[in-house]
Amino acid sequence: MEKTIELVRGDTPGTEWRFPVLRFTGTQADAPKTYIQAALHANELPGVVAINALLPLLRKAEDEGRILGDITVVPHANPIAAGQHLFLEHMGRFSFNSRTNFNRDFPLLDSVGEVSDLPDDDAPVSAEKRLKARLLTLAHGADLVLDLHCDDESLSYLYVPAPFWPHMSDLAQALGSKAVLIWDESSDGAFEEAAFSPYRNLPATHGDWKRRAITTVEFRGRADVSPAFAEADAQGLYRFLALRGVIADENVAPAEEWQGLAVPLANVEMIRAPVGGALLFHAGPGDHVAKGDLLVTVLFAPGEEDGAVEVRAPQAGLVLTRRAHRSTRIGEDVMKLLGDRPSDVGKKPGALES
Ligand SMILES: [Zn+2]
Repeated sequence: MEKTIELVRGDTPGTEWRFPVLRFTGTQADAPKTYIQAALHANELPGVVAINALLPLLRKAEDEGRILGDITVVPHANPIAAGQHLFLEHMGRFSFNSRTNFNRDFPLLDSVGEVSDLPDDDAPVSAEKRLKARLLTLAHGADLVLDLHCDDESLSYLYVPAPFWPHMSDLAQALGSKAVLIWDESSDGAFEEAAFSPYRNLPATHGDWKRRAITTVEFRGRADVSPAFAEADAQGLYRFLALRGVIADENVAPAEEWQGLAVPLANVEMIRAPVGGALLFHAGPGDHVAKGDLLVTVLFAPGEEDGAVEVRAPQAGLVLTRRAHRSTRIGEDVMKLLGDRPSDVGKKPGALES
């Protein structure tokens, strides 16, 4: 394993960001190349601890000559956000500088091979933009691109570009994902969309789709950071790499059929708070609900008659996520429910969430 340090010049004199990159060199030139990063939203740590548990498996494979394809791992992809704390809270999602979500606004290349057009570290743009260009450059050319995130309180699930489905069900099976959200339009420049963008004009029948995998992995909720989850997720990642021929391991059994729920993004019911107040959830991730079932009560006038609003399921479905906090403002997304049909509310253009 080779470790290098990436430097990103700060926006003011005397400041600089740095993050490590871990690389394994494969022994077979035609084996798939892999890029894995975690904590682009710096306060999402399930992927970081999964990588920590994965690395000993990769080093053992390397010692035994079983790494076939190149593997690049970035355990902490966002040193800028890693330092963003305010009043004891880690604010890892949005940039303090631009107020932009760190997983939006990545440059979208329209063909393979234009990575040299991305701003380098001498470019007169913010460190945030240069960091995004750097991460995209590190991932460029990888056949398997896994961007490890997590939700608030959540089942384990994946976002997958439509052309990759169902070929990527092996990843869902390896990771034990409970759901897959399939997207086919812009997500406002998420890293996954940027990694996918060079291939978006390939025909649906192109053979590349079966060789590649590009995804945002949502490893459950933000508090689901534990030795057991880390080990399980590391085993899942290792298993996927073995299934795809990145690692040779005859002990890894062939992929079984994945049993989870795959739905287009349009079927995601974003349950919103009709008023501000306290959230009293009646259902949580993993619950199957019927149309009209009570999902959450929002209490806005405690102790008063008619001081609460009930929010019910607009259609039958599986509760995928809910907010970790229990205090909401009017209009906030508080749950994701996966339905059998498109939401009547209609999905707004772009990413599901801000
Ligand atoms: Zn995230």
